Amino acid sequence: MNSLIKQTKKIFTERFGKEPEWITAAPGRVNLIGEHTDYNDGFVFPMAIERYTVIAAGKSSSAESTVFSVNQNAGKTVFIDGSAKPADTVTWSDYVQGTLQNCVENGAKLQPFNAVINSNVPLGGGLSSSASLEVATATLAEVIAGHRFDPVQKALLCQKAEHEYAKMPCGIMDQFISALGQKGCAMLLDCRSRVPKMVPLDDPSVAVLIVNSNVKHELTGSEYPDRRRQCEKAAKLLGVPFLRDAAMPQLESAKPVFDKEPDGGVCYRRAKHVITENDRTVFAAEALSGKDWKTAGRLMCESHISMRDDFEITVSEIDTLVDIACRLDGVFGSRMTGGGFGGCTVSLIESDKEAEITAAIGREYETRTGIKATIFATTAAQGAYSVS
Ligand code: ADP
Ligand code: MG
Repeated sequence: MNSLIKQTKKIFTERFGKEPEWITAAPGRVNLIGEHTDYNDGFVFPMAIERYTVIAAGKSSSAESTVFSVNQNAGKTVFIDGSAKPADTVTWSDYVQGTLQNCVENGAKLQPFNAVINSNVPLGGGLSSSASLEVATATLAEVIAGHRFDPVQKALLCQKAEHEYAKMPCGIMDQFISALGQKGCAMLLDCRSRVPKMVPLDDPSVAVLIVNSNVKHELTGSEYPDRRRQCEKAAKLLGVPFLRDAAMPQLESAKPVFDKEPDGGVCYRRAKHVITENDRTVFAAEALSGKDWKTAGRLMCESHISMRDDFEITVSEIDTLVDIACRLDGVFGSRMTGGGFGGCTVSLIESDKEAEITAAIGREYETRTGIKATIFATTAAQGAYSVS
């Protein structure tokens, strides 16, 4: 982390001929369990990872403000006078512009600045580089303006920027964990009350292993809205506002109603995933806080099976990764993390077996699929901060 900050400072100094005055950082995240529960008003359980977006900035000598992304190798002028509007086509700087606009609208008085953005969260890799960029930007606005937002308000204004400027209808998880994450803790987040509960996860004997399958299947593009609609329909059939409000016995007794539907029981299976996943998420948080790694791991494996068979959002490469991990000594549990159809898996492992586990997964995944995975272990990292 220090080397990323150092490197970003150096790039700023080379570009602008002076040291940066402000440095901010915000992490990416991984969701330990609780998939597709957010829009059903349920629980998610993310933690911040040791991958950050860092921004180094200094006063501009003109009235213009600029941002340069090292990752995109591109720069852009941004507006800080509250005059910005969402663009028709989304580019990377819209995440920054949208966040700045919302900060200004919520009372941050900015002065012209130049900034260099540099991230080691993989872009588009399912570890939420977008939220880390937004939250690092909002944190920069706070230090430039000398105006502290309530962290929940900060997360929400970043989410709003992603909705309006990046046109991505995301839930609240990514921005909440990036803004409010605490070192050594995962966060059980109730998406209904929006109240986060920090759950200690700092035992040095366990680590979280993230494996990027390096596949992303572009299907028809309607998978996500389809799942949302199916969940809404299931809630309606059950007579509850959201699937969060239903329990398994209720779903079981309503099965004849679901069976009569023309979809052949699809909505029943979607509901089964969401209802059981919600319970698993709350239980997993309890298990982790009691250091019951075995139970937490078992719940992760059950979550994967539920996503594979009932919610149908996994792909063969991801199933292969989970299958490999679950057979290895020192792995408590493994599952796909994120929206689905590729992306990453997350595993809870014994930290002293990290090297063997990493090597074995990499080797066997390549043998079975011909694809090289990207693998790294992380502990629960600190949420957004500024370096003074
Ligand atoms: P994820 O959040 O899973 O990484 P998204 O598609 O939500 O994937 O967000 C990725 C997009 O966010 C990138 O395509 C880019 O537009 C923007 N972005 C994220 N990080 C940076 C960065 N460091 N510099 C410029 N743009 C970034
Ligand atoms: Mg994102």
